[in-house]
Amino acid sequence: MSRNRKLGRFGALALVVVLAAGLAPAGFAQSPDEIQKVVNAAYEKYRGLKEGANADYIPALAKVDPNLFGIVLVTTDGKVYTAGDVASEVSIQSISKVFTMARVMDEQGPQALVDNIGVDATGQVFNSIIAVEQHKGAEMNPLVNPGAITATSMVKGTTADEIWASILVTYNDFAGRPLSVNREVYKSEAETNQRNQAIAMLMWAYGHIKSEPLRATDIYTKQCSVNVNARDLAGMAATLANGGKNPLTGKQAMKPGNVPQVLAVMATAGLYDGSGKWLYQTGLPAKSGVGGGLIAVCPGRFGIAVISPPLDAAGNSVRAQKAIADISNALKANPLASTPR
Ligand code: GLN
Repeated sequence: MSRNRKLGRFGALALVVVLAAGLAPAGFAQSPDEIQKVVNAAYEKYRGLKEGANADYIPALAKVDPNLFGIVLVTTDGKVYTAGDVASEVSIQSISKVFTMARVMDEQGPQALVDNIGVDATGQVFNSIIAVEQHKGAEMNPLVNPGAITATSMVKGTTADEIWASILVTYNDFAGRPLSVNREVYKSEAETNQRNQAIAMLMWAYGHIKSEPLRATDIYTKQCSVNVNARDLAGMAATLANGGKNPLTGKQAMKPGNVPQVLAVMATAGLYDGSGKWLYQTGLPAKSGVGGGLIAVCPGRFGIAVISPPLDAAGNSVRAQKAIADISNALKANPLASTPR
């Protein structure tokens, strides 16, 4: 083969590679470069923003660096876009509730949670006791504390260790790597979670938690203390965007048929009493945690996560909400939007 023909083949191959790199990923009008630019722009726009404050009702959370700021977007075809600090870990906190919910649905079917907890927004803060009292522990959802502690109590297993192992394996499958508990956060929250213990006792008194309410509270406290970085959270969100299959590892983390119900509750209650405003702005199912993480899911297209610890009054990360809203609007990701024909 002549040198020229060899070069010609190489040239054609190089051209294909260059073209493929410029092509928009599935479901996107934008090229990978444009998506990266959108992510960078949100990072630059909000990196100096100082609004909000770290949660301090769990003492260890007040000590987390408030400047930490990282954005990761993972597409359902496994492309990863990042900006800022994507490796530092924070405790997952309430974002964990989504994945325990998924576990219970996989074990007992979607109706079990509807019957025992409900799937309606409370309109109250996440640890509201009034919300429990209003309907004797029913007509709420697995993403506020009373429903979440009850969901944890429903995970199958005979010992606390067995239940915990099953929860952690689920989280690992969603994140795509083995996660672990932040001992300092766990200890700090375990020493100060009397309100959650009271909530669990009430849910027991009303018959929603069947036994050992304080064991359920302790396992719930542990699940909230699991350390994650923005990349883990984005992988977890992308798994929900991809029918429950992690697009980075190929592992099926939950039954595909249960994903829409999980997303429905995230849409209506994922940001607590800030959920309506969030949905109005973005149309995206999402879930926040008081550790400063926020995930959002664009079904079929991508999952996105931002970590930034300072929170607003409802307990949702200020910068994370702004960054995700900007990015999803720029990527035309609102699943409720349509174009007239
Ligand atoms: N572990 C926290 C609590 O139970 C979780 C709350 C949250 O992230 N909103 O209070």
